[in-house]
Amino acid sequence: MNDSPQRRLRLTWGGATDQGRVRANNQDAMYADWGLFVVADGMGGHQGGEVAANLAVRTMTRAKRDTIRELHDAVQEANKVVYETAIAQPELHGMGTTLTSLAVIREGGSRKFVALNVGDSRIYHYRNNQLTQLTDDHSYVAELMRRGELDEEAAAVHPYRNMLTRAIGVHSEVEIDEWLVDPVAGDRFLLCSDGLTNEVSDDAIAERLSIGQDPSATARELVHLANERGGRDNSTALVVDVQIDDIDGESDQGSVEHEDGGETPGVSPAEESTPEKIAATDAFELRTKSSSSYPKKQRSWLNDRVGISVATVLIASVLLIASAAMVATIGWYARDGYHVGVVANHVVIQKGRVGGLLWFNPTLEEWTEIQVAQLNDQDQRNLIAGKPLTDLAQAREFLAQLRTRLVDPDSESRGGG
Ligand code: MG
Repeated sequence: MNDSPQRRLRLTWGGATDQGRVRANNQDAMYADWGLFVVADGMGGHQGGEVAANLAVRTMTRAKRDTIRELHDAVQEANKVVYETAIAQPELHGMGTTLTSLAVIREGGSRKFVALNVGDSRIYHYRNNQLTQLTDDHSYVAELMRRGELDEEAAAVHPYRNMLTRAIGVHSEVEIDEWLVDPVAGDRFLLCSDGLTNEVSDDAIAERLSIGQDPSATARELVHLANERGGRDNSTALVVDVQIDDIDGESDQGSVEHEDGGETPGVSPAEESTPEKIAATDAFELRTKSSSSYPKKQRSWLNDRVGISVATVLIASVLLIASAAMVATIGWYARDGYHVGVVANHVVIQKGRVGGLLWFNPTLEEWTEIQVAQLNDQDQRNLIAGKPLTDLAQAREFLAQLRTRLVDPDSESRGGG
């Protein structure tokens, strides 16, 4: 039975996350432990995004996850927890999160990676100098691109490029995509949020992975690159390296230690303290909050200059105050008013201007059960473009009228649109 040597799967991993140069907080969360790697990117005003991402990740870590079925159940459970919390707490209404996870299971005597995804965080697989995006993005522009209706250039500037078509916590159940990968020595996986991929191209990611630095250094480099190229969103990178050792007369059973149901370190909800570094077999860095991964260059700007004159400091202060006031004004303008639009194929009320302004994105105010397919052609065009309205009452009134014009999506009358 034991003619061929046993093989032991050995994983090393490292992660980095940063709030970026624009956002006020970090709504990304991540977790890594032997056998489970997760990245989540929360959305929703106030603390919503942060709470959603951390709740989802924490739920995953506490669930049983030895089989593909159990992993799916864990994601459904994460969805349920976020969904029910959002309903129960008005200040968290409308929150949601992406969730992408890579887990190791044993199937038929060998180990396999199971990748599960909801949303537009990604898992990349780097093998034989080839980078493959394993997961599909569940975003409005990605759907249009898959249908051949939008190219990459147009997608990059599309007003709805941040809109998700699937997310954790939006409905009582969620559809989950799944991939299985047989591990091969030398494989590298990258789990990341869109804050990374919107700034750093696939080619640049492949180049970083090809250099062969250890996972922690690679993850830090990638997040650093995202910040250098704008840092317009929180960015998170979690790199997992695969090694396979031949061992005689020993099984690899000892390599896996899952903690079912118990307290798992590493992730906590937003209201609890910042998670500690995870105990792991190999060096691993984890930060789920804003952080210190990278020094903010602009913060040390004044201190770095020795012998700077008082006048220069005064002028700099005045300029800083003026720019802060300008940013506040733009923010106020961008967040003024409401509009009715489309998110994840549903009609929604959003606060803020259509498409946002600079780095101020509109936020989800009210979700409706109305789907795009139920709209007549003209409403469909209007709402995909976004219908601006001055206040919430007006937006609700508009929705009430819209409901009287809904069509049966299965009838022939709407034509091809
Ligand atoms: Mg993001």
